[in-house]
Amino acid sequence: MSGPSTPKPRHWPLSLERTQRTVRPASERVVTTADAQTLRPQRPLSDALREAALLRGAPTGYGGDLTAFRLHMVARLRQAGCRDEGVLAAMACVPRHQFVDSALATQAYEDTSLPIGLGQTISKPSVVARMVELLRQRPGGPGLERVLEIGTGGGYQAAVLAQLAMRTISVERLRGLHERAVRQLAPLQLTGLTLVLGDGRLGHSLAAPYDGIIAAAGGHDLPHAWVDQLARGGRLVAPVQDPALGCQVLMVVDKLGDGSIVQRVHEAVRFVPLESGLGDS
Ligand code: SAH
Repeated sequence: MSGPSTPKPRHWPLSLERTQRTVRPASERVVTTADAQTLRPQRPLSDALREAALLRGAPTGYGGDLTAFRLHMVARLRQAGCRDEGVLAAMACVPRHQFVDSALATQAYEDTSLPIGLGQTISKPSVVARMVELLRQRPGGPGLERVLEIGTGGGYQAAVLAQLAMRTISVERLRGLHERAVRQLAPLQLTGLTLVLGDGRLGHSLAAPYDGIIAAAGGHDLPHAWVDQLARGGRLVAPVQDPALGCQVLMVVDKLGDGSIVQRVHEAVRFVPLESGLGDS
């Protein structure tokens, strides 16, 4: 861990190995899989289904109104350490059960990932809260004008972001999921949300620069387009493979007012792979 002679953060681009040695403020620590439970926002489909089957079912006959369950989820997030009232309020608004298969609706407010089709899963609420909270702690202040999400999936996190940002662009590479998200988000009538079918590795230059970029899929590197499309004062939060630790970690990249880049490694995570190009389905 960092000692008294820890050098100051270097500028972009940094190799991951270098980041771990040099950028480690005392308030943040690198968590290895050995000393912390890995966050698994998008577990493989089989795990998600097994966990859903094991979970305690909520009472039936709720008539589609799961508000009490949602508020209970928010209370648990607060208890677990989420201090961002904006994030908690946004998550209290978005009906997560509408983003999963109706057979799984009663599990929607448990802290678990759930299948959304095409082998993908909706992220755990605690992971969504953590990532969005980190995003809002950007150097330029908590207000988010423009946000880019990579990996729309079912659209749940996009809906949460749309509560907090003036403009949210979310990119998905699988047509089936993109179209499903369009259908699921339409009834919510969210303002300022645009869903894009495309390769999120390229970002979305049309609406750049962004105060916040958040990725729901992790690769071996952080695409340069993301950093290029980040506004000054903006923050990128993304999972990325860390060769030194041998696991995926949550990476936070800040673009400071002078244009310099600082990156920090946070906890170990496990997201679905960030793929290249458009998918077949
Ligand atoms: N945020 C989503 C969960 C997304 S799961 C939710 O709240 O439901 C991760 C998603 O990233 C998957 O849908 C996957 O297809 C997508 N993905 C992976 N690589 C991508 C890429 N290069 N561009 C866009 N989307 C990508």
